[in-house]
Amino acid sequence: MGQPHALVFPFPAQGHVIPLLELSNRLVEREFKITFVNTELNHARITSAMSNSSCDMNHINFVTIVDGAEEGDDPNDLARIYERLQQVLPAYLEELIKKSNMVENHKFTCFIVDIFLAWTLDVAKKAGLQTVLFYVAGLGTLLIGPSVPKLIEDGIIDEQGEVKTKGKFQISPEIPSMRSADLPWQCFSDIKTRHHMFKLTLNVGATVNTEELILCNSFSGLEMGNCIVPPNILLIGPLLASQEFKKPKGYFWEEDTSCITWLDKQPPNSVIYIAFGSLAMFDHCQFEELALGLELSGKRFLWAMRPGFTGEEDVGFLARFRSRVEGRGMIVSWAPQQQVLAHCSIACFMSHCGWNSTMEGLANGVPFLCWPYFAEQFINQGYICDVWKIGLRMNLGGNKVVSREEIKRKVEELMSDEAMKARAMQLKAMADKSVKKGGSYLENFNCFVNRMKSSVH
Ligand code: UDP
Repeated sequence: MGQPHALVFPFPAQGHVIPLLELSNRLVEREFKITFVNTELNHARITSAMSNSSCDMNHINFVTIVDGAEEGDDPNDLARIYERLQQVLPAYLEELIKKSNMVENHKFTCFIVDIFLAWTLDVAKKAGLQTVLFYVAGLGTLLIGPSVPKLIEDGIIDEQGEVKTKGKFQISPEIPSMRSADLPWQCFSDIKTRHHMFKLTLNVGATVNTEELILCNSFSGLEMGNCIVPPNILLIGPLLASQEFKKPKGYFWEEDTSCITWLDKQPPNSVIYIAFGSLAMFDHCQFEELALGLELSGKRFLWAMRPGFTGEEDVGFLARFRSRVEGRGMIVSWAPQQQVLAHCSIACFMSHCGWNSTMEGLANGVPFLCWPYFAEQFINQGYICDVWKIGLRMNLGGNKVVSREEIKRKVEELMSDEAMKARAMQLKAMADKSVKKGGSYLENFNCFVNRMKSSVH
């Protein structure tokens, strides 16, 4: 049998690159050759972020695509990125596959692509590659797409995805109820973006209904009890990075590992970790209220404050805040989040409930303070607070701001709730089990690897 060679293509956003790169690292361990495609901009960000690290990028062949981004384009405008990729991607892929066929022992054998880019499958199929889709979020949200026709029929939403009936609904008896206002496209106030995201959900739904193999970063029992998962979906989560730090993690910002040394000095179960992923942004008013709430709580905290997290940063405010909380609070631009969440000093995770963060927190037994920002994060919050009962919602005040008093109140409530912590530890035990012999990760990952290898001659 020859060596499989996977062409891996994430949607070019941080929360998509990280898990697909982790999947790639694992495939390298199973003797796959990997070619990983990044946009030029993201590749430059990753290599620059890694320039001071001891990571070894050599076991993966990184290639770049010119996606037509122009100076001044907003790198967070996902709809615009999507539009650009639609223009350039099919021709680029054809060319890349053609070139690989001309190099001896370099031919691609399979194509692992983000489900958001499922429309590229035809190019790969035509070239005879095995194809696999990758979904970065959970099984519950993956199954929303195929349920859209039923939601329309039941009068929950109209043909454009606009909510007709407010309240809770269930897409199937096995999946916990969701709120119509939490549907992933509903949070976008701009109608063009909302309709674009709705269309994307419909497209994802269409692929779920085919026989196409879909890998999903979740594990058995987490979202649907013990119900049967559709046969074309393989749960291969949790995709946490191994503690072997030499492998590239695909961060767009340089990780500041000094926070681990700081955490080492803090008592067990004492620190609030605050991080809102790679895209969420706070306006200045909310940003200040969060800082003042942390101060008011009197607790220790580690805050991963990404550059640009607040568009209107007030340097003076931040400097005064830092000096007032010195010793008990640490701020870094980008934390080694998985390592942080695994640290015994961490008591809870104030999070935007992005799916990667959700999996990382729950796999480490950390309870959540939920502060969702957009897309499927409101549904993830529902799982955390209502289904698994391992977190609390941060409620908005009348002025649409989470107040400092609400922050203090919820921090105290969560940190003194032993039952919540016990449930979080039970979920961690489930996650641990899933990666052991007989667990869903190992079974499904082996099945996937064997399937990819079986067609290589
Ligand atoms: N992350 C990190 N350091 C930080 C903030 C985030 O390593 O300071 C990582 C986090 O571990 C997760 C990813 O960035 O893997 C964010 O993905 P998620 O799905 O949670 O949110 P998104 O960025 O897509 O909104």
